[in-house]
Amino acid sequence: MSAETDPFESLQAQLDDAAAYIDLDDGLLRRLKNPERILETNLTIRMDDGRLETFRAYRSQFNGDRGPYKGGIRYHPGVSRAEVKALSGWMVYKAATVDIPYGGGKGGIVVDPSELSASEIERLTRAFATELRPLIGEDRDIPAPDVNTGQREMNWIKNTYETLEHTTEPGVVTGKALDSGGSEGRVEATGRSTMLTAREAFDYLDRDIEGATVAVQGYGNAGAIAARLLSTETDATVVAVSDSSGGIHDPDGFDPAAVREHKHDTGSVVGYDGTTALTNEELLTLDVDLLVPAALENAIDADLAERVEADVIVEAANGPLTPDADSVLTDRDVHVLPDILANAGGVTVSYFEWVQNRQRFGWTEDRVVDELERVITDAFDGLTEAYETYDVPNFRTAAYIIALKRVINAHAESGTWP
Ligand code: NAD
Repeated sequence: MSAETDPFESLQAQLDDAAAYIDLDDGLLRRLKNPERILETNLTIRMDDGRLETFRAYRSQFNGDRGPYKGGIRYHPGVSRAEVKALSGWMVYKAATVDIPYGGGKGGIVVDPSELSASEIERLTRAFATELRPLIGEDRDIPAPDVNTGQREMNWIKNTYETLEHTTEPGVVTGKALDSGGSEGRVEATGRSTMLTAREAFDYLDRDIEGATVAVQGYGNAGAIAARLLSTETDATVVAVSDSSGGIHDPDGFDPAAVREHKHDTGSVVGYDGTTALTNEELLTLDVDLLVPAALENAIDADLAERVEADVIVEAANGPLTPDADSVLTDRDVHVLPDILANAGGVTVSYFEWVQNRQRFGWTEDRVVDELERVITDAFDGLTEAYETYDVPNFRTAAYIIALKRVINAHAESGTWP
């Protein structure tokens, strides 16, 4: 893990790589590399023991040229201004890669939620929602879950907003529970887009995904569901997975759903029957057909990238490779399918949820799954077309070319004012 790489610099380097293939005004490129605005705030809440505690929080609104700002809220001790800026920028280019009408935003609170009680997390979430209230709204900025947040936090944000605004506006956040205006298929959407991207990539590269060996780093919402769907819907063989406590390996494969149960019961994947332990570094350098990083950014640096044995990497996490790792893997002909396509299922089904909220009309799960498959496969086809047309060295640059062009067009069509 490379702690030094600033994720915001990674985002800017990725944009520069793609911009080199496009005729683009320098001033506009600077705009497209920097957030429009950032809220930085300090949330003070009363803890269960009566003490007051203050937590730093951020919301970055990166770019709204294609629609309302959209992006998750993360609760993690490592949240920083640079991380939130990067994550909000990746949301802009992710929404544009899959062509859904959103801009990008991201937020976070510097907190380790495992050290807080449920009622402290609720007070913290409601305090953040109160600060966010003037900025968010279904036509302005629409938060969603990210690391360590889920349906529960989204329901609290919606309720706080609606109470303060004296209205009902379920589309103000996505990733809600079904009875609070959530969508069928949202929970598994990110993992589904990772599975679909892997399936399309193997087909494009003329490789069999059936029986392909898979290692997954990170076994939360994105990783565990990607592992299960790769196993059940493409017949790939999941041979190794890990979480923050360590990894497990069985060269003959195992049932990812049963491993998730084990993690649910014991708190970790480690110790699952019939597997041997391995470190995260061993997992990332395992000789497999497909590697899925699904934990946090900067998981693979240049040194590790030299030792990666996988043939294909599909990024379920946001920004799991440093730019140096990306260059090493490009030079070594390891095919990397970028996060802004491979985990775009989350924002895509968030978009479907928002559409359903605005129409006050729910879709069936089959409809969500079918529409998501269409969005991801169309985006994949666009990406491979750009990869060939522009003759770029990797799929990431191709994705950023498509995304940048869409944002540039939206900006040009609107005009610059004043
Ligand atoms: P999560 O909290 O549900 O899961 C994260 C997992 O990573 C946990 O199993 C944790 O133990 C593991 N982990 C943390 N540090 C690790 C380390 N050093 N080594 C190995 N494992 C480690 O979070 P999530 O929602 O699955 O998000 C994971 C990544 O996917 C993030 O980059 C997030 O931004 C991205 N993502 C998530 C969604 C979504 O809808 N959940 C959408 C798009 C992108």
